[in-house]
Amino acid sequence: MTSPILEPGPVSKRADKIAERFQAVYGTTPLGLFRAPGRVNLIGEHTDYNDGFVMPVAIDFCCYAAITPSADDKLSVYSEQFHESVEFDLDQIAGSARQHWSDYVRGVAVVLRCEGYPVKGADLLLDGQVPIGSGLSSSAAIEIATALALTSLSEITIPLLEVARLCQRAENTYTGARCGIMDQFVSCFGRENYALMLDCRSLEPTYLRLPSSIRLVICNTMVRHELAAGEYNERRASCERVVKAVCKSLPRVRALRDLTREDLERHRNLISDVDFRRCRHVITENARVIDAKEALRDLDVARLGALMYQSHDSLDRDYEVSCHELNVMVELARKCVGVYGARMTGGGFGGCTINLVENDAVAEFQSKVAHEYKTTTGLAPQIFVSGAAGGASELIK
Ligand code: ADP
Ligand code: MG
Repeated sequence: MTSPILEPGPVSKRADKIAERFQAVYGTTPLGLFRAPGRVNLIGEHTDYNDGFVMPVAIDFCCYAAITPSADDKLSVYSEQFHESVEFDLDQIAGSARQHWSDYVRGVAVVLRCEGYPVKGADLLLDGQVPIGSGLSSSAAIEIATALALTSLSEITIPLLEVARLCQRAENTYTGARCGIMDQFVSCFGRENYALMLDCRSLEPTYLRLPSSIRLVICNTMVRHELAAGEYNERRASCERVVKAVCKSLPRVRALRDLTREDLERHRNLISDVDFRRCRHVITENARVIDAKEALRDLDVARLGALMYQSHDSLDRDYEVSCHELNVMVELARKCVGVYGARMTGGGFGGCTINLVENDAVAEFQSKVAHEYKTTTGLAPQIFVSGAAGGASELIK
C-alpha cells in the first residue's frame, strides 16, 4: 500500500466545518474567517537573508483563523491541531516566549500592540492544513491569518505589506527564528496560477505564470534533523563574515547580493574554504533565480527543471544543508518519467522536496516515489499536490 496523495479539498467545505467547530468551542458563530496559505519555494534558497532573489509559490494548503469579539480584555485561542485552548490577559500579554505553539499568535498580538494598533479581546479558533514543521511555513500562515483576524475587529486597516512585515518581526523577535520576509510576503501576495519572484532588497514582486501542463508535487521526507536551527545561524554567520571581509576593498558590497563570482575569486585569500563554498552557493543561486524567471517567461519548463536540479546540488555540496533523506527523494524524482526538476525546499536538514511533474505523470510519480522512498529509508513519505494559490483573504464577514 502506498500513501495517498494529499489534496486540500474545497475551501467552502472547510469554512462550514470551522464555523461548526467554532460553535462547539465558543458557543457562538464566528464574526470573521480568514485564510492564509503556506508556501513552497521553487528556487532561490538561502538567498533571502542575503538581499537576493527567491521564487516562492503560495500553496492550496492554508491556515484558517475564525474570530469573534469578546466582552472582556482577554484573548482566547484554540488550535484544532494542538487540541488545546490558551487564554491571555491583553494587558499582560508581553513577556518572553514559552516554547509553546501559541508563541506565534501571542507574538503577533504583542507586535501589533507595540506598533500602536489596537488589539481587542476576542475568541480565536485556528485550523491549519499546512503540515507543521515541514518547511512549508505553517508558521507564517498562522501569523498572517491571526493578524488579519485580530485587526478585523478594529476600524483600522493595515496595508498588507505592513501586515507581512509585522508578522516577520513577530517571528524574529518573539520566537527567535531569524527568517527573512519571503514566507510572510508570499502568504499575503501569492497569486493564483503564478509564481512570485521577489527581490528581497526592494521587495519588488514579479509574477510569473506557471504552465497549466505541470503540477507542483511536494514530498515530505518526514525527517527534521535537530541541527537545523544551529546550522542555519552558522550559514548566516558565514555570509556576514565574507561581506565584512570583502567590503573593506569593495565598499559597494552591502550583502552577498552585491558580490560577483569574480569578486569572490579575487578575495579568495581572505576567506576560508568553507565560507568560499557557501558564498559560491548564494551567488550562483541568485543567478539561477534570474535564469528561472526567463525560463518561465519562455514557458521553458525543462530549463526551469534543470535549474532546480542544479540548485539542489549546490545546496548539497556547497551550502551543505541537504541530508541523506532529501538526496534520496531528489534522486528518486530524477528517475521518474514526466518529472522536469526537483530540489529540497526550505532551510534544509529534512522537510520537503518540490517536484515539477507533468499532469499525466503525477499518479505514477506518487506511487513510485512513495514505494521506493519507503524501501530505501523505512519511512512513509507524505505527498502533496498543489496548484499556485492566491494570497491571504477573508472568507466571511
Ligand atoms: P514550519 O513553518 O516549517 O511549518 P515552524 O517550526 O517554523 O515550522 O512553525 C511551526 C509552528 O507554527 C508550530 O510549532 C506552532 O507554534 C505554529 N503553528 C503552525 N500551525 C499551527 C496550528 N494549526 N495551530 C497552532 N499553531 C500552529
Ligand atoms: Mg516556519
